[in-house]
Amino acid sequence: MSREELVVQRARTSFQTGRTKPLEYRLHQLKSLLSLISERRTDIAESLKKDLGKSEHGTELFEIMKLEGEIRLAIDKLAEWAAPRPVEKNILTITDEVYIQPEPLGVVLIIGAWNYPWAVTLVPLVGAIAAGNAAVIKPSEVSSHSAKIMEEFLPQYLDKDMYPVVTGGVSETQELLKLRFDHIFYTGNSTVGKLVMEAAARHLTPVTLELGGKSPCYIDKNCDIAVACRRITWGKFVNCGQTCIAPDYILCEPSIQSRVFEELKKSIEEFYTDNPKTFEDYGRIINQRHFKRVMGLMQGSTVALGGDSDESQCYIAPTVLKDVTRESKVMKEEIFGPLLPVITVSGVDEAIQFINEREKPLVVYVFSSDKKMIKRVIAETSSGALLANDCLIHYTISSLPFGGVGNSGMGSYLGRYSFDQLSHMRSCLIKQLNMEGFNSMRYPPHTTKKLGWARFFLFKKFNFGRLRRMALLAMLAGLTAFVVQRFLRRG
Ligand code: NAD
Repeated sequence: MSREELVVQRARTSFQTGRTKPLEYRLHQLKSLLSLISERRTDIAESLKKDLGKSEHGTELFEIMKLEGEIRLAIDKLAEWAAPRPVEKNILTITDEVYIQPEPLGVVLIIGAWNYPWAVTLVPLVGAIAAGNAAVIKPSEVSSHSAKIMEEFLPQYLDKDMYPVVTGGVSETQELLKLRFDHIFYTGNSTVGKLVMEAAARHLTPVTLELGGKSPCYIDKNCDIAVACRRITWGKFVNCGQTCIAPDYILCEPSIQSRVFEELKKSIEEFYTDNPKTFEDYGRIINQRHFKRVMGLMQGSTVALGGDSDESQCYIAPTVLKDVTRESKVMKEEIFGPLLPVITVSGVDEAIQFINEREKPLVVYVFSSDKKMIKRVIAETSSGALLANDCLIHYTISSLPFGGVGNSGMGSYLGRYSFDQLSHMRSCLIKQLNMEGFNSMRYPPHTTKKLGWARFFLFKKFNFGRLRRMALLAMLAGLTAFVVQRFLRRG
């Protein structure tokens, strides 16, 4: 038996003991995860410094605070999320118990990406634990320092049989993907996303795919361009552009293009000084392979701002590109690096057309003072999310589902959405054994009259708002007796 098989089998056996069912167990695991985050802050920050050149405060702001917030929310809300959810009834079930009971799926495989290795790997884990699942955690091998300490620390804080960490590269992930899981939660690029889905299909395993793509950003001329560019600079260059929801490119009218360059320049200098290379809050490209890939994307475009690089340090300065056409290399794939191409369009009509001609992105960004125009972009485009007049911050709101659509992914998470995504929503109906007469309309022999009553009871709108259960029962019993006596017995 391979290492992967052993680990998954152990997780399944642990799950089958039923110990994740009581909420106390889940709360205990969530609290331990919270302790890991607070006690190992320094180790986490150091791993991210080594992997991506992130500053300590940057790590806290962009990775740890979200993770901590998600754990705290799950602890606070678990009882509510896990409780039976009563649903609307029809008259035929009015006296019955009808509700949805969330139940654990079983063993979840979580495959993480490297750009925010702690958040994208452990936020789904929070949902898996809260929903009462076992989970096999596969951190990205690309952010190797984070993966290593995740492997070391998680077993010290969590039930290690129930939540094992499997490290390794593509071949280990492929081995895991051969095995049977009850859900696979994958974060990464769309090409591998397709492989994950293919592997999952062999076992009919449901998937959540948190993918990427090119998120467009339209700047309307009717807006505060200085504020817009400041927010775009922040959203684009944080983590060196290696953010799945970073604005990928700007669309604007030619009349405001030079103003956009001017304001982007001001903001880049304000945030990262005139020498970002030595500035603590500006990170690095993850590795040489990605460095070369990102550098290659500049071919055929003109550098309007930035453009410096240093391969030995995987450093690429915040860079703005002009003379970019639809055919330019930088427009052919997700950039996932600190390059910001600006493409001119004649106005919002062409911007909408431009967006709709491409794959559905993770986010559509629009900057405008005109609310009607923003609503028009919402109505006429499709994407995982739409954010107007800011960047990234929708991720901070746990009451919004986070996820893509089409090529940018399927399924969503954060807060209660994570819990729901990793639960089975079991439909439960508990009927009484009395009032059998009422059922005769559905039993053979079928007659026109019975059908008429069935239609009446199923489709007639009754307002039972104020009636109490006993009154309802009495009323139904009376009605049943009447219907049965008068109509159904005689057919
Ligand atoms: P990556 O290279 O770390 O790959 C992710 C995981 O897939 C790793 O665990 C790796 O082992 C596995 N993997 C890679 N190749 C594989 C193969 N051939 N077969 C099986 N498994 C394989 O990460 P990445 O894909 O470079 O991540 C960047 C992408 O992720 C970007 O497109 C980005 O937009 C996207 N992303 C999306 C989100 C989101 O929430 N939607 C978050 C972060 C990143």
